Parts: sequence; C-alpha cells; structure tokens
Amino acid sequence: MILYILKGKDHSSLKEKLKSSSASFKFLNLYGKELALAWPDSAVEGITDESVELVVKTKKSYILAGNEWKKDPTVVKVKDVEIGSKRVVVAAGPCAVESEEQTETVAKAVKRAGASLLRGGAYKPRTSPYSFQGLGEEGLKILRKAGDETGLPVVSEILDARDAGAFAKYADMVQIGARNSQNFTLLRDVGKLGKPVLLKRGLGNTVEELIQSAEYVMMEGNGNVVLCERGIRTFEKSTRFTLDIGGMVAGKLMTHLPFCADPSHPAGKRELVHSLALASVAAGADMLLVEVHPRPEVALSDSEQQLTPESFELLMERIKALASVLGRSA
Ligand code: PEP
Ligand code: MN
Repeated sequence: MILYILKGKDHSSLKEKLKSSSASFKFLNLYGKELALAWPDSAVEGITDESVELVVKTKKSYILAGNEWKKDPTVVKVKDVEIGSKRVVVAAGPCAVESEEQTETVAKAVKRAGASLLRGGAYKPRTSPYSFQGLGEEGLKILRKAGDETGLPVVSEILDARDAGAFAKYADMVQIGARNSQNFTLLRDVGKLGKPVLLKRGLGNTVEELIQSAEYVMMEGNGNVVLCERGIRTFEKSTRFTLDIGGMVAGKLMTHLPFCADPSHPAGKRELVHSLALASVAAGADMLLVEVHPRPEVALSDSEQQLTPESFELLMERIKALASVLGRSA
C-alpha cells in the first residue's frame, strides 16, 4: 500500500494519473489531512505529483491505523469525553438495556461513582436464539434518555447496518462486537455513519486482524476508532475468555489508535472483574468497558459477570488510585 499525504484539497492531477494506471485508489480526509491511498504498490510505481507532500509505503497489512505516517496518539472524542489522553475513561452500564427503571438506576449509580460513558446493549448478539435478544430501538431510546438525564454520552452495539438510522439518532458511540469484528460490510457502513466507533477484537482474531478491521472503518474517512481487547478463545477454562493483556500492549505499539479493555466478558464471573480491570489499566488501557447491573442476579444476560453498583463504586476508587500512581487520572 501507498499513502500519499497531500498538500491541499486539489488532487485532480494525481487522480488522473492513478486513473490511467491499473491501481485501485481512494481519496479521503482523516484527522484534517487530505490523503490518497493506492494499491498494489507495483501498479503505482513511479507515480509522483506536485500535490503530494509525503509518500508513505508499507509492507504491513494496514496503513491508516498504523503509526508509520501518524506518530502522535489519536484522541477519540465522544461528545466532550476524550479517549486516548491522560485520563483513563470508564464506560459502564448494563450488559443489556432491560427497562427504563433498570437503566436509569444504573446510569445514576455509575455516574455517581465516576464513569464518563454509559454503556448498554439494545441489540444483543446471543449464542442461542431463545435467549433475550434485547429491546431493539426501544432500548436505544431508553439508553439515550438515561444518558441525557445523567449527562453521560452513550455507547451501544450495532448488529445490522439496517439499524444505522437509529444509531445515528440515539447513540454517541457505536460498538462493533466481537462477533462482528470481521463483518467487513458492517465495518464499512459504520465507518460511513461517522460516529466514534468502539471496535472489539473477535474471539479468534489476532491483534493484527483487529487493526485491519479498524482499517475498514478508517477507509470511509472515520478515524475515531477505539480498539477493544475483550478476551479471546483459548484452551483455558478458568476464565470465560483469555484477556490478552500482552496483545493489547503489543497492539498499542502497532497503532496510533487508543485501546479499551473489557474486563467483564473475559472474567465471566464478577469476582475476577476488579483484578482484570486494574491489570488492564496498569498495562496502559486508555478506556475500560465494565458491565454493571442494579441487581445482577436477575439480569437477562451475562448475570454472573455484572458488578453491583456498590462493587463498581469500589472499583472506581481503586482505578483512580492506580491511575494516579501511573501519572494518569480516572
Ligand atoms: C457486550 O459488550 O455486551 C458484548 C456482547 O461484548 P462482546 O462482543 O465482546 O462479546
Ligand atoms: Mn455482556
């Protein structure tokens, strides 16, 4: 791949040259820069143009998400919340939005404890079709209302591009779940939506594959992507998934994008969530995604791993203490 960083908006002569070559190409704007991507390298050999400020070539499988052209860490803004700067951002809320009362109760509790974003699934990817599938658009509306009442921006998972309109209307950040991490048409569609994206790693994907998935979103001109380590499938059964802290640390060196860690899904049991959350912060996570339910024992999904509001409050205190030791805040 070749990335041309352009001097200004006029790229007509470069476009003509690329058109008359056999290259595939795409012009886009990312982080305020005009860019042109072209591939494969062999097809663009020798193409130069006066509109080009810098040419970046890579042998890697990704370029937009990589740090060969962009050295400064990207800060993703969700309303006024900045992910990827000094502050460790905590998103918390129920696995699934179940009712107005449940969502409002938990929203108030996580806000009080110091969370910056409210999470809640309205469209739930369940292994069994007989399990609770989420409230759909009604769930998004409930989440939006709870977010507005508490002043917390909201993040929720999209399963199907046909729901993009509802996400445009009600969500501040769009989550792509582990099961859709390589749903390439959905990635492109979510890229086009233009909202900040929380992109989870697939259960069987490498860190490099996760970064390539981010590349799909970014190719649509959306650079506001937060990568999320949420555990992978391994032979180990003592946790629900294996939280790949090492993979997250390595991933942070491969990209300028910020990293989130989800300690809840790999834990599978609430007893493990604090330790996995703290380990993630110690290893450099810029954001945490934590499941909290007012009464986890009656939750309609992921009942065993959701924290009570009291336990979340204690976790926030511990995160704040650790962040300050690390020269960060929370
Ligand atoms: C979730 O965050 O509720 C979720 C379904 O996560 P994952 O895609 O990581 O399983
Ligand atoms: Mn869940």
